[in-house]
Amino acid sequence: MAVELTPEGATAAVTAGRSLLGEGALACDASEVAAELRRLAANLAETSLEGSAAQRSAERLARQTPDLGPLLQPALDADGAAIARAAAGAGVDAEALARLLELALQPVLWVAAERCAALTDLDRWDRGYCPVCGSWPVLAELVGAERRRVLRCGRCGTGWSWLVLLCPYCGNDDHRTLGTLAQPDSADRVDTCERCHGYIKAIATYASHPAVRLAAEDVATVHLDVGAREAGYTRPGTVDPKTAGIPRLVREGR
Ligand SMILES: [Zn+2]
Ligand SMILES: [Zn+2]
Repeated sequence: MAVELTPEGATAAVTAGRSLLGEGALACDASEVAAELRRLAANLAETSLEGSAAQRSAERLARQTPDLGPLLQPALDADGAAIARAAAGAGVDAEALARLLELALQPVLWVAAERCAALTDLDRWDRGYCPVCGSWPVLAELVGAERRRVLRCGRCGTGWSWLVLLCPYCGNDDHRTLGTLAQPDSADRVDTCERCHGYIKAIATYASHPAVRLAAEDVATVHLDVGAREAGYTRPGTVDPKTAGIPRLVREGR
């Protein structure tokens, strides 16, 4: 697995707000991803509801995995239409294939994220979306005694520092329209934005979680998502695609 990107190219992309995997091609071994997909499909076939579409698709994918070569880029780009076409061609459920591809690619993304972090200083990144893969953060961590706020990507695991009074989705930094849903008996909370009606969980932790632990942390704090949605917030909020993830100060040229 290799990320075809120079340190200079990576630094230029980070400064310009362009995600690194969109800049440098990610070269990975399709047969390794296919082997992982077969393993996951076999697991899913065993654990999902007998006779369901997901189970039938998983059984088929475990037996006969389609050629993943042409599917890797659409999967990395989360290109649902291309995946749906491949699923139709293979006679499997599009949602099941998309989910399995995402899971099968995750170990590749974790390694790619580590390589990208070694190329440049990701803490100079000033956008609300992931500097490596471009996804929205799945949660924020409040790290250590100083409760430094770090956004974490649930897809590739990348973390990047973020101001407390700044919405990662619409870039709002007006404290009058930024709020918090505090939790009784917990240092965890939900940060909300009245401008885009977005929310993000903030989880107090002594140290940043390793990438492999993030999915479990997300599930363990699902009550925060439930509370936020009941209060009318979504993740991400309703943002203009042209300015999504760009802080007001960055938009206005500081
Ligand atoms: Zn990412
Ligand atoms: Zn917002």
